[in-house]
Amino acid sequence: MKVAVFGTRKYDQDSLQAANVDGFLTFTFIEALLDPRTAVLAADHEAVCIFVNDKCNAEVLEQLSLIGVKFIALRCAGFNNVDLEAAARFGIKVARVPAYSPEAVAEFTVGMIMTVVRKYHKAYNRVREGNFLLDGLLGINLHGKTIGIIGTGKIGLLTGRILSLGFGSKVIAYDPYPSPAAAEHGIKYADSLDDLFEQSDIISLHCPLTDSTKYIIDDTSIKKMKPGVILINTSRGGLIDTYALIRGLKNSHISAVGLDVYERESSYFFADSSAKVIADDSFARLLSFYNVFMTGHQAFLTEEALKNIADTTISNLRSLIESGTCACLVTTQ
Ligand code: NAD
Repeated sequence: MKVAVFGTRKYDQDSLQAANVDGFLTFTFIEALLDPRTAVLAADHEAVCIFVNDKCNAEVLEQLSLIGVKFIALRCAGFNNVDLEAAARFGIKVARVPAYSPEAVAEFTVGMIMTVVRKYHKAYNRVREGNFLLDGLLGINLHGKTIGIIGTGKIGLLTGRILSLGFGSKVIAYDPYPSPAAAEHGIKYADSLDDLFEQSDIISLHCPLTDSTKYIIDDTSIKKMKPGVILINTSRGGLIDTYALIRGLKNSHISAVGLDVYERESSYFFADSSAKVIADDSFARLLSFYNVFMTGHQAFLTEEALKNIADTTISNLRSLIESGTCACLVTTQ
């Protein structure tokens, strides 16, 4: 079976090749993201393998179906970049990797919270330049702070657990589908999302990006938050209205932000953009704040996660070709 793997970096290629032990799949690795201009590169392939920033809208899916693609294998859990209705219309089956390592993202999130509150990134640069002054590095304890987790799925629960049982933070959460496991992870549900906004010193986002969660953080929600609130997003960029975030930073209602994702990240992330002028003004503005710490969608990137992604992707494709379905199928239902 021939698979066109879009948006690949060396680490994707190495992990997929290593997991393809019996050579069941033949990969064509393509650096470019999938979009209406690059879809043609999948000609002669039965499957296309994509990641978070590949564009898989109706136009792309129609092109893929015309050139014979039958399966889309996502190398990630989120599927907000795939038009599932169009995929069904064109007879293309979509599979994903529902959980490759929630620990990787939860641990990264806690590291990001620590970095933002204790300013590791600033200390690192200072010390390397021989500046050992501590002014400007004043932090806060996480012990006793109220941390609000929005979305208590696999990653939200683990993040809450580390903070509650490890740091002694008071962890509260909001999820329209509360988890019975929350209490054993040291997490208590807030009365409502507004209640979480009002109580939390730090808010961390762990819900998927859907029509109902888009801009869950906007001017209205920011106004409900405590003055000096810290926001962390390792989920999806579209959960935050960037203009509202910038307003909240400019008027100091938000005291610090940690972001691993950005709503228009696909123009810059997963590539070396160091010799490129940033044309997106709100992205450039975010990068200019002294109290915004940003990483380039890195939370998933551990050896364990890459191995699980490769193993599940290959098993999804094997199952789709052999039986026409698989346990990780994504449908509109
Ligand atoms: P999950 O499906 O296990 O959990 C998501 C939870 O969000 C569910 O409990 C769901 O009920 C809840 N939810 C849905 N709508 C909500 C709403 N309106 N408000 C609050 N909660 C809501 O997913 P997961 O594996 O925990 O992953 C969470 C998100 O993390 C993914 O959707 C993905 O976007 C992101 N992610 C990011 C990276 C990264 O590298 N930065 C890696 C993996 C996943």
